[in-house]
Amino acid sequence: LIQVTSLKQHFDSGKGEVTKAVDDISFHIRPGETLGLVGESGSGKSTTGRAILRLNEPTAGEILYQGMAINRFSPKEMKAMRSHMQMIFQDPYSSLNPRFKVLDIIGQALDIHRMSKNKKERKQRVEDLLVMVGLEPEHAMRYPHEFSGGQRQRIGIARALAVEPDFIVCDEPLSALDVSIQTQIVKLLEDLQHKLGLTYLFIAHDLSMVKHISDRVAVMYAGKIVELAESEELYNNPLHPYTKSLLAAIP
Ligand code: ATP
Ligand code: MG
Repeated sequence: LIQVTSLKQHFDSGKGEVTKAVDDISFHIRPGETLGLVGESGSGKSTTGRAILRLNEPTAGEILYQGMAINRFSPKEMKAMRSHMQMIFQDPYSSLNPRFKVLDIIGQALDIHRMSKNKKERKQRVEDLLVMVGLEPEHAMRYPHEFSGGQRQRIGIARALAVEPDFIVCDEPLSALDVSIQTQIVKLLEDLQHKLGLTYLFIAHDLSMVKHISDRVAVMYAGKIVELAESEELYNNPLHPYTKSLLAAIP
């Protein structure tokens, strides 16, 4: 579904120094699979996810979505592509605008892609999405601060699903949640994947988080992918020293 080739994302730090956040990486993501992307803080995971969605402008490299070179798409063409590609964020506290009701937070996603014909249909779609992620239709009339962290993450997932994407970058969607809630959110993401045929790039700090959900796992270190393998293979027979250290860190 996605083919990334020689992707580079450099940031100019101002003083003539360049941060190579993503330093020449190549990988693909198969339709319907979950590719885990793990690595320590600052290794370039989010930058990679954001570059695929063109939330950053990559410094170099090619990104194919279903064979289309979306790295060459105009902003307008890219906007249309966002109905196919969405992102779920780490922090469900800051990624939902506190001034809007859930109805409008999700409704605005529908508006951007003209997914509903009128107000009534818009509300109905929002309510259907809330039910799909395990919330109540009445929750549409509430504000983000009235929800727990896990519920907020469900709202973030509903917003991503609103435009009926087939690819979602899940950027550490569990980090801000406690362990019992993490399990519920993983289960929800897995159920949705099977039901809707979604493809995920699932970003996490450590390997324990992605172990169950990922078909394959890429390990990132200092802007490079140091190892990429089938999950089982990576857990049972890690090749790179950094992967070994990540495995050793799992309790
Ligand atoms: P974390 O696990 O903490 O989320 P990460 O692996 O997602 O880390 P990135 O956010 O991709 O890491 O950042 C990689 C590097 O790029 C870091 O050194 C970061 O400071 C730098 N960086 C990211 N975004 C920008 C930006 N917009 N401008 C300048 N530097 C940036
Ligand atoms: Mg990140």
